Amino acid sequence: MLTYFLFLIPPMLLAMLAQWMVQSSYRSMSRVPSRLSGAETARRILDSNGLYNIPIEQTPGHLSDHYDPSSKVVRLSPEVYQGYTMSSVGIAAHEVGHAIQDAKSYAPLVIRNMAVPVANFGGSIASMVMMAAFGAMLVGASKLVPLLMLVAIVGFSAVMFFQIINLPVEFNASSRAKTELVGLGIISHQELPYVSKVLTAAALTYVAATLQTVAQVAYYVFQFLLMTQSNRD
Ligand SMILES: [Zn+2]
Repeated sequence: MLTYFLFLIPPMLLAMLAQWMVQSSYRSMSRVPSRLSGAETARRILDSNGLYNIPIEQTPGHLSDHYDPSSKVVRLSPEVYQGYTMSSVGIAAHEVGHAIQDAKSYAPLVIRNMAVPVANFGGSIASMVMMAAFGAMLVGASKLVPLLMLVAIVGFSAVMFFQIINLPVEFNASSRAKTELVGLGIISHQELPYVSKVLTAAALTYVAATLQTVAQVAYYVFQFLLMTQSNRD
């Protein structure tokens, strides 16, 4: 139990820190005004990339912004869609960054999209198998536990692979966003740090979530090795 916390507490703290940074940078950059709204920004960047046919929709929620690759729609939260702020402009440009990646069949995005069903399947199998492993331990069928753990490790590794391949996708969408924003004169060079602040914080949440999964997989591998080792003795 103690080793579990040793493995998982540091990435958990990082995840909490990242969440706090996203909220606080979003709030502070929502006070810095921009010339265009999030929706206007998204339209401008899409059009300049020839993506006239990709619509921009408003979607309910806070920080619910995303690009939907299956229906080819950019969906922005009301604050981002309507807001004339650095936060709105930065997030809108980032989501359009994903639309541009999709249009250009950017390789990490293609791989990530292919990994989605595998990761979802792996994640749900792994969680179920972990419960079965606990159950097996309770009823004294501990011989089954290493095998169940191995299945869980494979399942969680699929999630980990998805999260790792997602990192370049996120970083690239943000760097495209910044290039487009300055290139099209939506923000000035002097305003770039404002947008960077929001996008860096958002990227950190992905890094933290990935580290959490890496720590989890490492923990289960560690336990698996301990178990198979003690079985052999
Ligand atoms: Zn993104």
